[in-house]
Amino acid sequence: MVVQHVLEQFRRKFSYFVKQIDNMDALFEAQFSPLSDSGRLLSKCGKCLRYMKYISTQPARLYCGTCEEVYYVPQKGTVKLYKELTCPLDNFELLLCSMPGPEGKSFPLCPYCFNCPPFEGIDTFFGAPKTGDSTKLGKGVGMPCFLCPHTTCPHSVIAQGVCACPECSGTLVLDPVSAPKWRLYCNMCNCLVSLPEGAHRISTTQDKCPECDSTIIEVDFNKKTTPLKDGATLHKGCILCDELLHSLVEMKHGRSFSRHGRRGRGRGRGRGRGRGSTKQQDPKMSFRDF
Ligand SMILES: [Zn+2]
Ligand SMILES: [Zn+2]
Ligand SMILES: [Zn+2]
Ligand SMILES: [Zn+2]
Ligand SMILES: [Zn+2]
Repeated sequence: MVVQHVLEQFRRKFSYFVKQIDNMDALFEAQFSPLSDSGRLLSKCGKCLRYMKYISTQPARLYCGTCEEVYYVPQKGTVKLYKELTCPLDNFELLLCSMPGPEGKSFPLCPYCFNCPPFEGIDTFFGAPKTGDSTKLGKGVGMPCFLCPHTTCPHSVIAQGVCACPECSGTLVLDPVSAPKWRLYCNMCNCLVSLPEGAHRISTTQDKCPECDSTIIEVDFNKKTTPLKDGATLHKGCILCDELLHSLVEMKHGRSFSRHGRRGRGRGRGRGRGRGSTKQQDPKMSFRDF
């Protein structure tokens, strides 16, 4: 009798608790950040080689509990570990940041280099405010690999850059995770160029086009859809000068693009400014046919 009474009491207590748990959750969530945000282990610190925590609440950042250091990441988009690759300069594990939307870029970044770029002379950092000083670092403003001028790092703009942007003084770089809708994007504006869709693999090579100085790319076409003779799949060439590749690439833009207006302006203004001016030749002119 007593046992049954006590059991019944506990049963009621339990169901009352279950009903009220949401209230408690809400209270706790307001007080503390939700469990998912309190920092999940994401990537390894290059100094202590332990995992750093990713804190997604603004300002989004990585925190190394061992070194007690904070590394900000881009404030828009999502970040994840990038194939466990590491930065050759500091040994930090690279992250892949993906901007929202179908035209959003995906790009690698090193948490350390993003916040403390080891190179000078970058005139527009990623995430910099449209008005104001674009050379000032800040929370979420920094140097992703697509702005990195490291000459031998496989993720730098030197290795992944293909040609000058026809719209601005930036460089079109290969989106490393865009398969099967392979594409190039500008590292400064929202210019997009789609590459042969469905290709098995597209990569940059170390060779430059003798005619326009663009990076030669290598395309491994899909066996079923290859445009090459006899079912061959491998093709190397310049996207501007190689007839086959040029016929397969297509220029796309962000929302506000007006093709004719911008093109004229870009040509006049873009030349002789910024990074483009250091090249011996301006490959922009070769985009004439688009
Ligand atoms: Zn550390
Ligand atoms: Zn780095
Ligand atoms: Zn790098
Ligand atoms: Zn551009
Ligand atoms: Zn060329």
